[in-house]
Amino acid sequence: MRVGLLKGNGIGPEITAAMQRVIDACGIGIEWVNVPIADEAVAMYGTEVPEESIDLLRELKVAIKGPISVEKMAGRINYIRKDGTSHIYCSNNNAIRQELDCYACPRPARGIPGISGKNENVDLVVIREISEGIYAALEHRIDGDRASEAIKLITKTGAERICHYAFRYAIQNGRKKVTCAHKANAISLTDGLFLETFRRVAKEYPQIESEDLMVDATAYYLVTNPERFDVIVTMNQYGDILSDLCAGLVGSLGLGAGGNIGDNCAVFEACHGSAPDIAGKNLANPTSLILSAVMMLRHVGMPQWADLVEDSVREVLIEGKHITRDIGGSASTDEYTNAVIEKIKEKKTQINV
Ligand code: NAD
Repeated sequence: MRVGLLKGNGIGPEITAAMQRVIDACGIGIEWVNVPIADEAVAMYGTEVPEESIDLLRELKVAIKGPISVEKMAGRINYIRKDGTSHIYCSNNNAIRQELDCYACPRPARGIPGISGKNENVDLVVIREISEGIYAALEHRIDGDRASEAIKLITKTGAERICHYAFRYAIQNGRKKVTCAHKANAISLTDGLFLETFRRVAKEYPQIESEDLMVDATAYYLVTNPERFDVIVTMNQYGDILSDLCAGLVGSLGLGAGGNIGDNCAVFEACHGSAPDIAGKNLANPTSLILSAVMMLRHVGMPQWADLVEDSVREVLIEGKHITRDIGGSASTDEYTNAVIEKIKEKKTQINV
């Protein structure tokens, strides 16, 4: 099977290399296809997100991506297509998601005994809508530099497809409840449309419990009683923020996996950024990207390999002998990765896969 590999920058190349070594240790015969992006793409094509890379992703349909840095206050990119048309996106990451029509971003947070403290029993998934909301790059200055405004775009079609995705996800993954996080009291038309759609869609899935909560109350309950949550579906920016919070709840951004899912393409990536403060130091925790690869294996119908990798990762984390600095250990990225690979080899012989 061919899988696209976007190395990204910052800690991206280190954690993609670690993830690749772990998946290769399974011996499934994945052929990794390099997809140039960010610095590598600039050197080859003069742009961070070239259409050549997007076309390759469309052909491959499945990929794993390392994080990419986005310059503060200047991250907008003008994506120029070969046919001469173009589109302004709020970031390079956003350009990839939008060009591939990825709209759902599931981000699981599962506690780990010995690492997640009082949150070791947390087991929830934030499903972030990623095709609209405040990241639609509909932003402009008003009256010179005296004010700026951004438009939050919520469509009925966009809200319907993410809400259906959340309920289908719940059914397929044995989950019991979907919570919609919104701010429909203050932003009544956009968040109101999202909430109204959620309530209507929920009626089609009577086997799944549904509820809605203000996003501020959701943040509060996530900190005080996270075990009350199962699946949380929410708009783009709220999901961006809440999913980092959930990674923190279980121990570190370095544990936060995710995927950008569309009807034709899926690009799996960690929920964190390029961590420039630790880049190139062999300190990054690659668990986030390894667990993103686990999600990829489930997506392509290889659940037995997904379970093998996930169980191996969790065992190494629970044993606590070779864990990285962000979760209280002193192992380097390589030492931790080697421990996971050893565990995979051990378990492979035990279960004879
Ligand atoms: P960040 O997520 O990169 O880092 C926040 C903190 O978490 C830092 O202390 C970092 O060292 C730590 N951290 C993150 N991942 C870690 C890991 N795997 N192991 C150990 N520690 C880890 O957030 P930031 O510093 O605000 O952003 C850095 C850059 O990444 C920015 O340019 C931002 O725009 C970009 N970014 C990219 C993506 C993406 O590619 N999808 C997502 C978010 C941010």
